[in-house]
Amino acid sequence: MTDTLSKLYQTMITELGEDPARDGLLDTPGRAAKAVRFLTDGYKQDLETVTNGAVFSADTDEMVLVQDIEFYSLCEHHMLPFFGKAHIAYIPRGKVLGLSKFARITDMFARRLQIQEQLTKQIANAVLEVTDAAGVGVVLEAQHLCMMMRGVEKQQSKTTTSVMLGSFRKSQNTRNEFLTLLGRR
Ligand code: ZN
Repeated sequence: MTDTLSKLYQTMITELGEDPARDGLLDTPGRAAKAVRFLTDGYKQDLETVTNGAVFSADTDEMVLVQDIEFYSLCEHHMLPFFGKAHIAYIPRGKVLGLSKFARITDMFARRLQIQEQLTKQIANAVLEVTDAAGVGVVLEAQHLCMMMRGVEKQQSKTTTSVMLGSFRKSQNTRNEFLTLLGRR
């Protein structure tokens, strides 16, 4: 256990009043460091590598909706998890993005220290940037452990955020189509 993050976890364990030398905790600093590195590896990714050329020409201007993309993120205020589902829709304008890439884009931004509002916006902007779509709509539903385990302890509360860009913002019909497909209208 040599790296800085492991050492910090060891200090933290001591600060919490535990004995980092006891059997069950011996390898914990290293494991925790590895886990948190994985949970934040979105910092090492960028849009170009993540989408990796998976933008294809297509003669369609009908709405595409990718629903129920699971995500796990860490709130930047408490560094506790928040998690839920992302729903991403767009209206192509000559170019479509490979379907698995919506999950990759979601993970790239989710695996950083985040607030849900910003995560929603970053996903929407990224999809618009890669596809040059006529419009993009993103809805995120999430539960926040910082609300569930501490503070107000509201276990059942769910937070919904949405960002509408381009035609999703301008046209009520487009927005309604999206929300109807999501079963929200
Ligand atoms: Zn929080």
